[in-house]
Amino acid sequence: MATTEQVSTLTDGTGGRAADDPTAAGEPPGAARGGPEEQAAQGRRMLVRLLRPYRGRLVAVLVLQAVGALAGLAPLLALAEIGRELLAPGPADRTAVWTAVASGAAGLLVRVLFTAAAGGCGHLVDGDLHLSLRKSLAQRLGRVPLGWFSRRSSGEVNGVVQGDVDTLHHLIAHTPGEFTSAVVVPVASLAYLAWVDWRLTLVALIPVLFGIAVHRLLSSEERRRQGMAVGQAMGRIGASSVEFVQGISVVKTFGGAGRVHQRYRRAADDFADFFLGYVAGSAGLASLSALVLAPPFVLLLILTGGTLLITQGAMPPAELLPFLLLSVALTAPVAALGHGMDNIHAAERSADRIHEMLSARPLPVPDHPALPDGDRVEYRGVGFAYDDGHPVLHDIDLVLEPGTTTALVGPSGAGKSTLAQMLPRFFDPTRGAVLLGGVDVRDIGDEQLYQRVAFIFQDVRVLRATVAENIALAVPDADRSAVVAAARAAGLHERVAALPHGYDSVLGEDIGLSGGEAQRLGIARALLIDAPVLVLDEAMSFADAKTQAELRRALDVLRAGRTQLVIAHRLETVTRADRIVVMEGGRIVESGTYQELMGAGGKLAQMWRAQHRHGNGTHEGTGR
Ligand code: ADP
Repeated sequence: MATTEQVSTLTDGTGGRAADDPTAAGEPPGAARGGPEEQAAQGRRMLVRLLRPYRGRLVAVLVLQAVGALAGLAPLLALAEIGRELLAPGPADRTAVWTAVASGAAGLLVRVLFTAAAGGCGHLVDGDLHLSLRKSLAQRLGRVPLGWFSRRSSGEVNGVVQGDVDTLHHLIAHTPGEFTSAVVVPVASLAYLAWVDWRLTLVALIPVLFGIAVHRLLSSEERRRQGMAVGQAMGRIGASSVEFVQGISVVKTFGGAGRVHQRYRRAADDFADFFLGYVAGSAGLASLSALVLAPPFVLLLILTGGTLLITQGAMPPAELLPFLLLSVALTAPVAALGHGMDNIHAAERSADRIHEMLSARPLPVPDHPALPDGDRVEYRGVGFAYDDGHPVLHDIDLVLEPGTTTALVGPSGAGKSTLAQMLPRFFDPTRGAVLLGGVDVRDIGDEQLYQRVAFIFQDVRVLRATVAENIALAVPDADRSAVVAAARAAGLHERVAALPHGYDSVLGEDIGLSGGEAQRLGIARALLIDAPVLVLDEAMSFADAKTQAELRRALDVLRAGRTQLVIAHRLETVTRADRIVVMEGGRIVESGTYQELMGAGGKLAQMWRAQHRHGNGTHEGTGR
């Protein structure tokens, strides 16, 4: 069911012009998602594409980091040289020793300077990418059809805008450093050690090769797949926790907190089981690898190999020192490499999700917006499919004459919401057209359209802003008296006026709204817009009897004199409507006044009888 959304003109203020940001270019919107391998490859491509504008600066980070890492080896090499000098037979060469000390100190200084510069540069790139991605995402989200949001939970959207963008932080700000060190330091150390003694170098390589082999095993396709599944399971927990928190008012009204909480717990338990399985599969191997790469083991191995060589007279004892100092520098990066790869895989997945969101097809906007002439609404041969090949609306012809009320009724899934949502362009028709004042709504500019068409569907979304700002969302320059008048007519004034900060109370901080109050806020918004056409889902499922009566009064104020398309759930609406449209299977199966349809004894009469058999005087059962 498409149930979401609030009142009216939540656009990005850009006029929804066609996107030209580099991040969004390329892939066809909503490109087919393949299997895990394909997704990983796609993620890699996306990552490269996202990072392309920062190529130059990223290379600079790598170079700075490489120089820093090499310089960092200098103190160790200096120590080794000093040791060799001091342990060699005969008097020590003072100049050589002091030169080594000075080189070590200089290396340390260069390392500190270059690593700091690399870190700073990396964080600057990261900051730029963050800003640009969040801007692009915000722009794109401001341009996608409103219906796009009803297919996604806010947890999911938040996960991309916040979580996935943050995941890229580690990749850009830290991974280049880790990676460069992980490559440069061992290679340089190996070269030096091989020059000192190639046999002991081979011994020192044993733990490194073992670590690399284990790492390859642990990053197999299968493990990647599991890693992806872990990410998805975490996403599900995130989504269910956000939904749990956001829906708490509804849940409490129904007394179903336990049930919903259980759903969250189940998601968490499933994740825990899955994660245990994931970790158990690799724990043994990973621990063994950690042991082999640990400094005590490496040193023991070198000491054993070194002792053998020394006792056989194959190597002078002083040569053991560089190995003891540098062998740890060989193995430590292997572990870092593992983390670095994990970060890269995580970033690839995030890049893929970010790219998918950036490729969401924006709602086309007219180059030359036309002005509607009047408020007559016409659905002309409208067909619609959410997914290709599965039409949910067929050949809808429907006219809403100005000032009339049209009630949509029909079983759940009949297509009522979809039909209603086409008028405020939650979606555009796949076939045919919806016209307002003789103009295709696709040819009307956003502002003009939403000045003329207000809508209230089931979920009224509120922003973390003041009550006044929330009411005046679509009319930001409305003065306070107009806001108060709208709130008063919607039955919200007394509640707001009683708050210490009145209309300046911040929703979600100073005040939380119940479901009924949120509905009233929606009505106040629509009243303030004062649009001549109103699209309304009058379901008030979570309101108690008193609240329902109050809401009805507020709605009656809102509806007076407007052209209305109402997803009807109430007997009065249906009986008083100028026209009832009965829908079934995405088609209009009956249309006429209450008397005509009841007299004809068709679908409406059948539905009516069925409801009365169940002792339900209202029209709830016709809808959701
Ligand atoms: P009604 O309002 O009469 O209950 P809807 O317009 O919500 O009917 O749904 C009509 C059909 O479209 C149903 O089969 C429903 O499953 C499908 N549908 C509704 N919203 C979506 C959506 N966002 N994505 C895919 N299918 C949807």
